[in-house]
Amino acid sequence: MKKKLLLLLPFLLLAGCKAREKPDIVVTSFVSYDAVTNIVGDKLKVKNIVPWGSELHDFEPTPRDIEDINNAKLFVYTHPALETWVKDLVTNKNSFDMSIHSDVEYACKVKKQEHHDHEHDHDHTLHYWTDPHIYIRVMNDLLTVLIDIWPANETYFTENHNNYTARLLATSNDFRDFLFPPLEKPPLFFAGHNALGYFAAAYKLTIKTISESYKPDVDFLSQEIIDFMYEIKTFDSHYLFIEELVEPRVANLIKNELAKENYAITLLELHGYHNITAAQAKEGITYADIFAQNVANIKQAFGG
Ligand SMILES: [Zn+2]
Repeated sequence: MKKKLLLLLPFLLLAGCKAREKPDIVVTSFVSYDAVTNIVGDKLKVKNIVPWGSELHDFEPTPRDIEDINNAKLFVYTHPALETWVKDLVTNKNSFDMSIHSDVEYACKVKKQEHHDHEHDHDHTLHYWTDPHIYIRVMNDLLTVLIDIWPANETYFTENHNNYTARLLATSNDFRDFLFPPLEKPPLFFAGHNALGYFAAAYKLTIKTISESYKPDVDFLSQEIIDFMYEIKTFDSHYLFIEELVEPRVANLIKNELAKENYAITLLELHGYHNITAAQAKEGITYADIFAQNVANIKQAFGG
């Protein structure tokens, strides 16, 4: 009986393999998924190996992910400091490192890595995607690569790409108009990890975080948090921004503490595009949607 099952097993496994549809393109994040799918539309099968709603910075691929990556016609990843496993495991010659095409400065990263700093995975060249102009630059290069591999779809890809990047630019221009004249705006207070540097630089915004080494799971009033609350009151700010997909424990702590002094705080999200929830993925939420929502939230904080 046992022998029979064992004999059957290879056939079952083989059948299982055959049933699995091989992706044309494998990607490693919400942003790489967004950039690719908003060009290729429904023409190609795109697989994001990072589960919706999961923490991007902690992701590790499975052996099956690696197999899919190496068998795909194109592999798109976000940053070698984020997907540190790429250099050892990926053999696919058609690998597109979005960070190279972002053209952002690498000096900071090298400096941080020399110090073997725990924070090096949050270095300053990471999160380049939060500046929509950098994101568009990456999408422009990605379009060229996609057309090289699938030349028959050139018109379709180009049209999708142009429509999508035009939408990003329209939101960006609208935001710049709102921020004009470029008088110094009060700072935005952000109870999250320092991911919005490129976004802030693009619009000359000041985003203050609790500290560089801030831990989102702290639930007591540290001196850092007390100083941060003092700064919020100094600027008479009544909005506190929170990051996506993380329970805003520190932000609620601050809100409740200030409420005792009859000082009202409204929490608003400032999304860093790390990942979206499964429900948002089902709805087809894009980077462009999130960018527009971020702009709307900041306008609210500035009284717009
Ligand atoms: Zn991050």
